[in-house]
This record gives sequence, C-alpha cells and structure tokens, in this order.
Amino acid sequence: MSQRFDEMKQLPTPCYVVDEAKIEQNLEILRGVMDRTGARILLAQKAFSMYALYPLIGEYLSGATASGLYEARLGMEEMDSSLENHVFSPAFREEEFEEILTYCDHIVFNSLKQVEKFGRRAKECGKSVGLRINPQCSTQEGHAIYDPCAPGSRLGVTKENLVQGLAAQPELFSYIDGLHFHTLCEQDADALEVTLAAVEEAFGEYLPRMKWINFGGGHHITREGYDMERLEHCIRRMQEKYGLIVYLEPGEAVALNAGYLVTTVLETLHNDMEIAILDTSAACHMPDVLEMPYRPPLKDSGEAGEKPYTYRLGGPTCLAGDIIGDYSFDSPLKEGDRLYFQDMAIYSMVKNNTFNGMPLPSIALLKKDGRCELVKQFGYEDFKRRL
Ligand SMILES: *Cc1c(COP(=O)(O)O)cnc(C)c1O
Repeated sequence: MSQRFDEMKQLPTPCYVVDEAKIEQNLEILRGVMDRTGARILLAQKAFSMYALYPLIGEYLSGATASGLYEARLGMEEMDSSLENHVFSPAFREEEFEEILTYCDHIVFNSLKQVEKFGRRAKECGKSVGLRINPQCSTQEGHAIYDPCAPGSRLGVTKENLVQGLAAQPELFSYIDGLHFHTLCEQDADALEVTLAAVEEAFGEYLPRMKWINFGGGHHITREGYDMERLEHCIRRMQEKYGLIVYLEPGEAVALNAGYLVTTVLETLHNDMEIAILDTSAACHMPDVLEMPYRPPLKDSGEAGEKPYTYRLGGPTCLAGDIIGDYSFDSPLKEGDRLYFQDMAIYSMVKNNTFNGMPLPSIALLKKDGRCELVKQFGYEDFKRRL
C-alpha cells in the first residue's frame, strides 16, 4: 500500500485518485448478489461518472442508469452497448425526449401525467416503461434532504394519486411495465425490507401485472457488515411471489471507499487553535461535506485531540464555513505536506464547482498494477467557459 502512496506523490494537487482495485472489489461483491439471485444491478451514474472506468464496470454490472439526457448519453457512449441503459427524470422535456429514446431502453416516469405525455411514444419505440412510486415510508432520520418520502415530496406517485389517476384514465396502466422506488440513502437491508412491505401494502395489487421492479439506490451493499442475506431474501421474495425481474441501481456502493482527494497544505496559522489552509475546498471539491454534512476520513489522522497536534482544515476560498473538519496528527503540519482524504470517489467530481475561481481537481486512476495515471487536468478555460 505504501508503494501506492509513493505513486500518488507525483500527482499535481488537488487531485481525485480513484483506486481501480477497490472499485473491482466492490464490483465483485455486487456481482455476487447478481449471480446468487439473478437480480440486475445498474450503476447510478449520478454518484460516479468517471467513464474511464465504465468498461470495467460494464464487465460486472447489467448497465447504467441516468438522471436525464446527459447521463443517458454518457452511459450510451461509454458503456458496452450490449448493456442496459435506464433513465429516470422527475419531468422530461419535450425537446429532449426524442434523443433520450435513441439512448435508453428503460424509461421511468415520475407521474401519470408524464406517462400520458410520453408513454405512448416510448412504447411505440419498443421501450420498457416504468413508473416511480412513492411508498410514503421514511426509513432515515437526519438527512431530510435525502428523503423522497417526506411530506410534500415531488418524487414518485403516491398510492392516492395513482388510484385517482387510473380511475380517470385506466388506459394509462397498459403502458407501464415496471415500478420503481428510490427511498434509501446509505442504508442496510432492514430499511429495504420495511420499504418493500410498504410498497406491497400500497401497490401490491399492481405487482402481478408488472414485468419488473426497481429498488432504486441507497443500498450500502459494499459496506462492511451489510446484511447481504436480508437483501437477497428481499430480491427473491419479489421474484418468486410476483415473477418480477428485480433491478437495483446503487451509486455509492459501486465506488464506496474507492477514491482519495489528495491535497497540499498551503499555509498554517493560529487563531484560538491551529489552522491549516489546504489547496482543496469543501465548498468546491467535496460539497457533500457541507451539504450532508459529514466529516470525511483522512489518512493517518485522528479525531480532534486524539493525536498530539490538532488542526482545523479549511479551504482556500472566501467562505468562512469552508471547513472540512478538525483532525489531529502525530506531528505538526507544515507547508507542502500532502493529505489524503478518503472515500472521495462518490458524489465528489460529479458535484464540484469553480466558486471563487477555484481550479477543479485533476482526476487520476490508481491502476491495479500500482501505477498512477493522470486522466484529466483542468485549467482556466474550464472556469471561464461556464460563465
Ligand atoms: C441517487 C439515486 C440513486 C443512487 O443512490 P446511491 O445512494 O448513490 O446508491 C439511484 N436511483 C435514483 C433514482 C437516485 O435518485
């Protein structure tokens, strides 16, 4: 492992480094679920769209899913074309729908109105059509912005709206091949089990007439200690009871703990406590740290006060709250030191921005053979072009 960090020393910073061997380990675990159950697993590109790895991901998974036109196109261009390409959007646009039809085989709508608007065209092109349902069953506390079952949610059709809608337009039901739900976030299979019971309770009458069901994402399958048996039981139950094809579309689980954000200490100072300014920014390069919020793991560090030297690590922007967290170290930090934030493959490079004119981190691949390959570098033009 230390040899691998030596390789990373040559990289410019800030830089996301994705660990191919770790991605492959995750894929092996997901492949195991597919092999044992016959479920189909798709990459949710919104969590991880580093398409240099799509060929590898495509060797293991059934395909990809997209949040809209651009991800759908990326999946089509960069994944093996024999694989599945799904798309869900809360509302498709008229002017993009024809193009989406050329990329995707499965199209999931968020409402019966969307089915009415686009469903016939999708069916005429031979697409499999899905409807996202909202089982109104919250299983997570704390992360309200990640709860599609919260009151007032715009995501998925509730039972009440579906019953009313189909009473008014029963013909729309004939367009629908599958049901889709996505309600979990970094959760174990017990939450899935609870959710499935709610799905059956509210939508069970429709299931025998469907071809497939999609369990969405948020399954932390590749996390240590995940209850694999319970997951596989949930999958088999839907297969055996209703004869359904089961899809899962994890994002996080594909690239969990499979990337670093390498950064350099630019400056240290003291104001009530020791502070270090890094060349990476929470606001720009790891927005989930502030949005979720969470404290990213950092190699060779401890909690504040755990090791002798504690620092508050912050970014080089003007935002006072651009703080990654308080960490402790065995020795004092100094200018030029390199730090390695961990679990930085997911929801990082897909969410970054150039606030304050911050440079975007480079993207590198730590290959299985230990070599490190710089995949992308960004510059001033990337900042300017978007404005
Ligand atoms: C976010 C999302 C996913 C992936 O979720 P993860 O938490 O990254 O596993 C899958 N499907 C849909 C519809 C999503 O919105």
